[in-house]
Amino acid sequence: MTEPRRGLGGQRCAPGGGPGPGQRGRTQREKVLVREGCCREEARARSGGGAPPEPGAGERAELGRLVAAVRARLVRAGALGLRGLPAAARARAAPAPAGGAPAVPAGSSSCAAARPAAGAAPRPAAAELAALAASIEGCTLCGLWRSRSRVVFGEGDPAARLMFVGEGPGAEEDRSGRPFVGPAGRLLDRMIRAMGLAREQVYIANVVKCRPPGNRAPTPDEAGTCLRFLRRQIELVAPELIVALGASAARVLVGEGHAVGRLRGRVHRFGEVPVVVTYHPAYLLRTPADKRKAWEDLQLAMRLLGLPLPDR
Ligand code: SF4
Repeated sequence: MTEPRRGLGGQRCAPGGGPGPGQRGRTQREKVLVREGCCREEARARSGGGAPPEPGAGERAELGRLVAAVRARLVRAGALGLRGLPAAARARAAPAPAGGAPAVPAGSSSCAAARPAAGAAPRPAAAELAALAASIEGCTLCGLWRSRSRVVFGEGDPAARLMFVGEGPGAEEDRSGRPFVGPAGRLLDRMIRAMGLAREQVYIANVVKCRPPGNRAPTPDEAGTCLRFLRRQIELVAPELIVALGASAARVLVGEGHAVGRLRGRVHRFGEVPVVVTYHPAYLLRTPADKRKAWEDLQLAMRLLGLPLPDR
């Protein structure tokens, strides 16, 4: 059975749960409500309307639709090699209870602003991300704060289905405070467009939020210390797929110390989120011969997301 595709741009409401027109700018909860209402409308239209339902029939029909939706999701998850519903799907289906604490670990008082007060209603992902970004502006948890001009938190659609994770900010990113805006960023933009997407439709972050001196790779200690922030970003965005750009991102997300060449071409996991590993755009600028392999990796990501592949 083929499940209808959901474009990352959310151009239409699909039984698979994609956002519909006009949903951009709404909160996660509003999107869920709109999506559910839209899907009920589609089901009603398919049934052709007709006589008013008998008492209880609506609930039974709703239950049937839910069971069918979960079953379809599990079939798709099985095809991806997953053992259950991805965390993203669970989070979207069942918002966290009021007062549920985010998973940013304790240990840094500078993180306190990212946590909603006990008993407070959960905030939309965009607000949580903004609070988290604000909370780490003065972070000194690892030594990289000494070499930064600005913390480069990350940016993109807070409800993106696809998330890119790179290594760390370079010189231009450090100056601008935005990820992937230098030459490597321009190549990443082209890679995203080749997937039929726009940069605004994905979420982009790095393993470390502060520029390592001399553009060196972050040490395992630095990456491990900053991982709490990336982990929280992933929880909030709840992407259906992560593309790890380069060895540093792969090491943090996949946990294997192998070269990218040995990790690419298959599906890994960060928690329950599928991860595809490919080359960092900065490496591709130095080694253009490997762009073809990177394009193969992006096509794997597109297949996993159900995005249309170009005719070749
Ligand atoms: S790299 Fe991360 S952990 Fe280190 S100072 Fe910057 S924000 Fe804090």
